[in-house]
Amino acid sequence: MAEIRDDALLLRRVPFSDTSLICHFLSKEHGRITLMARGARRPKSSFRASLEPLYALQISWKPGRTGMGTLVDVQRGRCLLEPSLSLHGLELLAITSRLFQEGDPHGFDETGQALALLAERGEQQGLCAAVWYLLDVAGWLGNLSHCWHCDADAQQMMYWRQAQLLCESCGDNGRNGSKGMRVSAGLRKSIEAVLAGGNVRLHAADAACWRDMIRQALQEHGIKATDSFKV
Ligand SMILES: [Zn+2]
Repeated sequence: MAEIRDDALLLRRVPFSDTSLICHFLSKEHGRITLMARGARRPKSSFRASLEPLYALQISWKPGRTGMGTLVDVQRGRCLLEPSLSLHGLELLAITSRLFQEGDPHGFDETGQALALLAERGEQQGLCAAVWYLLDVAGWLGNLSHCWHCDADAQQMMYWRQAQLLCESCGDNGRNGSKGMRVSAGLRKSIEAVLAGGNVRLHAADAACWRDMIRQALQEHGIKATDSFKV
């Protein structure tokens, strides 16, 4: 079968046998794919230097007749994040890896956009913006201007329960009479402004609240929150 070439991001490398790696990529035109990199763990393999996460990669592979395809070549392009942000970048890829599964046609552009948000905004705010954006494109979040349960326009104070934004009356139906976490109009406005690229200074309490909202959203969908979202 003919070789295929595409732009890609490396999501995960899993050792296979003594010498090979199974690599999970998000590719631009072919979505999420898994490829065998034969011999990639040998000291002299040309794959060793190029199979890195957080770089723009161009990969070539031969599709498998039945199962997994075989990686043929990897060209490493530019690094997508400054070194000081690479740990956050890896956190982002771990979340991406759970959001876009094998065969999913999406993910490459979305992850690129999330990494760009992180690169622009830096550190904590950038990571929150990037993860929020990914959860949104994955369809897990709604618009912050109304209650996600009854669709009523958002009031001054809203509540975050089981990763849903709720109005006061919908919030009242919580277990143990608890409404969930308070989400002020100010924070909702700030989140929208950050995602739109605005230069927003979040109060420490608002920043902590946003982190907690994300942590709960990840948890609600069975994704282990990374250290950055622990409270
Ligand atoms: Zn409601």
